Amino acid sequence: MLPLLDVPTMMVMTAAASFAMALALLIAPHERREGLGLWALAMLLNGLAFLLFALDGQGPRWVSNVLANTLLAGNFALALAAIEQFRGRARPWWRMALPVLAMALLCLRHVDDFTARVVIVGVVVPLQAAMMLHALWRPGPQLQQPTRGMWLLSAGLALQFIMFGLRGWRAGAGQFSASHLLQSGGLQSISLVLAFVVVLLSALGFILMAKARADAALHHLAMHDGLTGLANRRAVVQALERGLAQAARSGDGYALLLLDIDHFKLINDSHGHLTGDLVLRELAARLRGCVRAQDMAGRYGGEEFMVLLPGTSAEGARTVAEALRRTVQEQPFAGERGAIAATVSVGLGAIEAGGGDAPDATALIASADRALYAAKAGGRNRVENDPG
Ligand code: GH3
Ligand code: MG
Ligand code: MG
Repeated sequence: MLPLLDVPTMMVMTAAASFAMALALLIAPHERREGLGLWALAMLLNGLAFLLFALDGQGPRWVSNVLANTLLAGNFALALAAIEQFRGRARPWWRMALPVLAMALLCLRHVDDFTARVVIVGVVVPLQAAMMLHALWRPGPQLQQPTRGMWLLSAGLALQFIMFGLRGWRAGAGQFSASHLLQSGGLQSISLVLAFVVVLLSALGFILMAKARADAALHHLAMHDGLTGLANRRAVVQALERGLAQAARSGDGYALLLLDIDHFKLINDSHGHLTGDLVLRELAARLRGCVRAQDMAGRYGGEEFMVLLPGTSAEGARTVAEALRRTVQEQPFAGERGAIAATVSVGLGAIEAGGGDAPDATALIASADRALYAAKAGGRNRVENDPG
């Protein structure tokens, strides 16, 4: 059994935790419009609500009985807006305002009836928790992989639902152990400990959600090329290493193409670097469009691109390379001052299926590079294998 905990003390502790979390949310580094500011404001209202609850009986009745409960509902309304903002959606004004209005009017109507107010809070707040859970998990553009922060926040919201709901249900059944707000009792102790935990879980969960998003954005930046949006050299070499290890285990073939735009310096010199950039971007888009889902195209360096073709023989890779070479030759690139003709040379490196010990990534890249050199030496606009 829980000892009878002192209710005003626990309320002040919950208020203090809310203010501390508001501060933490405000100083947590974040992009704009991720809802952290709104959640901080929500925590501020929650802190004020619990301070007013703790002062019950010391001021006018409407302060602790009506204003405090309205602040509590306002807190959850702002938290709902924070979740919607995090998910990139508009502020849900009606879903925010209605529970707050209902809370204010119903508590005003029952300003002298403690039990009725526990029931009112026990209906409105679980409803708000359910709305937040729905907003958090509802499918939509910004719902990526569920993160630990989302689970933590959901745990906080589920506890909020259960704790306030249980109070309302017990009060409605005439089984609530306290007859005024500050009276100690079993359910009072449990629910106030949970109120404290809910503040911590949900605020930390929300901070973790923002952090996971920032980490994902940084990871994307670290692995992608800013100009073309393709995988960058680091990402494509890592994928090659993984692919070769997999091919060594399965005994499948594996092929690698190294593409280099012919006389790209001339394109830059005669059309300008910005047009050169346009050509790089357009070529990247064509590469992306040409390869299968399991393949990967990346920007290896300046005007050199790498295409990974897992499970592909040298012959198959040559077909892909020829197709790429032809699309470049046959479809000039759109420049600001008319079409720009370009060609590419392709070096091909491959390991055959069941070929025994597979070469490592460096050796396969060196092989494709020798092949590319041979293609350049052979007159450009061609596909070559490693001459050995
Ligand atoms: P080759 O046929 O032998 O490949 O000749 P090339 O002119 O294509 O080769 P070279 O390596 O001499 O020149 C590559 C050029 O690519 C030089 C460099 O200025 C240009 N380049 C590299 N990165 C970028 C970029 O991001 N944007 C633009 N516009 N040009 C770039
Ligand atoms: Mg080059
Ligand atoms: Mg070149």
